[in-house]
Amino acid sequence: MSSERYQVVIVGAGLVGAAAALALGRQGLTVALVERQPPDTTFHGFQPVESRTPLVGQVPDETWDTRIYAISPASQRFLERLGAWQRMDAGRIQPVFRMDVAGDRFGAIRLDAYEAGVSHLAAIVEAGRLQHALWQALQADGNVALHCPADIDSIQWGEPHTQLSLADGSTLEAELVVGADGAASRIREWAGLGSTLTPYGQSGVVANFACGMPHRGTAFQWFFDGDILAWLPLPGNRLSMVWSTQTAHADELVALDAAALAGTVRAAGHDRLGELQLLTPAAAFPLRLIRVDSVVAPGMALIGDAAHGVHPLAGQGVNLGFGDAEALVDMLAQHRQARCGDVRVLQAYARQRAEPVQRMQALTHGLHHLFSDERAAWLRNAGMKVADRLPPLKAALVREAMS
Ligand SMILES: Cc1cc2nc3c(=O)[nH]c(=O)nc-3n(C[C@H](O)[C@H](O)[C@H](O)COP(=O)(O)OP(=O)(O)OC[C@H]3O[C@@H](n4cnc5c(N)ncnc54)[C@H](O)[C@@H]3O)c2cc1C
Repeated sequence: MSSERYQVVIVGAGLVGAAAALALGRQGLTVALVERQPPDTTFHGFQPVESRTPLVGQVPDETWDTRIYAISPASQRFLERLGAWQRMDAGRIQPVFRMDVAGDRFGAIRLDAYEAGVSHLAAIVEAGRLQHALWQALQADGNVALHCPADIDSIQWGEPHTQLSLADGSTLEAELVVGADGAASRIREWAGLGSTLTPYGQSGVVANFACGMPHRGTAFQWFFDGDILAWLPLPGNRLSMVWSTQTAHADELVALDAAALAGTVRAAGHDRLGELQLLTPAAAFPLRLIRVDSVVAPGMALIGDAAHGVHPLAGQGVNLGFGDAEALVDMLAQHRQARCGDVRVLQAYARQRAEPVQRMQALTHGLHHLFSDERAAWLRNAGMKVADRLPPLKAALVREAMS
């Protein structure tokens, strides 16, 4: 069976792995991208390295993805530089101009792009369309070898090259293996890097609705009884819901019929956008905090959910992942004379990412606890009320949301 040698092999072609591959390929590095399963969108004319038949799946169509992301302006700029953002249908991107956050008593805070002097706070996109755009950009560039569908059987860590044996018997060699293989990362496990998974005992229920009233680009978020309900605006009179709630309640919500779910979500959102009509079946995802002891080892680096897991209340998971991809690519570019797997370069990447990741984990974890504790009700609502009257604090919150 064949053996191919690359400077970097990335395992996992989700949004973060695909973006990292695109960026590294553009730096002129030899890069392979290994993905277990083709995404559920079709890439017309695309010829993966391993397979000579086009990937199967669906062309993004008129239906709305249940998986929606609030992309920060910093991530948007990164995706623009990669030429992926421009490949998305502008009619399917919704800028967020305002965020209305309400506590469970009298507290409320409004963040406004106009007041903060920025064009928008975030852009709402469908996961499948962004994935499609990234893979199209990979195809157009043509300088990343995509192995899909392909699974890793085993890894022999070594210097200067690590050997990855694929399930089909072929071998890839790499100076640097990048684990972009998600929260249950096998690369992390194979590298022996410790991680702590703390379940929140909650699930995020996601579903899309048509709404009776225009949202005017406003994202709504309510904190009540330990739950967090978010309505993100979609183009037209539509919204995407993420309801973080106790797992048993999440199961009940998912089991409701369309009319009952729409009625429950409408009532929980204080009827802010009129009548709701379910567009996509509801789905639930378990929520957990994942802390990884170290995100690098000689010849190995983790990015995206493989490197950290955060509560989705701030909608920042994939943005943190894009930040990892950008930082790793920049670090390798700054140390062109070193081998890609040089642990000193990788440690510089790890140091650069430690602060933003820990800050986001502390913020989301802290907010989750603040809003789950009945004794803290007065404090959190008063805090929001005060914060809403402090323009510098609001500007700082906008900066945090945009980074
Ligand atoms: C309910 C909910 C709502 C969310 N909302 C938001 C939001 O609004 N904004 C936001 O920024 N984030 C949000 N997130 C977080 C976001 O979903 C993740 O942070 C993001 O998808 C991580 O991307 P990734 O590419 O790192 O990992 P994944 O998307 O998990 O991709 C990993 C890839 O690796 C592949 N893979 C795995 N193992 C192997 C292997 N052995 N060999 C080959 N390939 C492999 C998988 O097939 C997959 O394609 C939300 C999360 C939840 C649960």
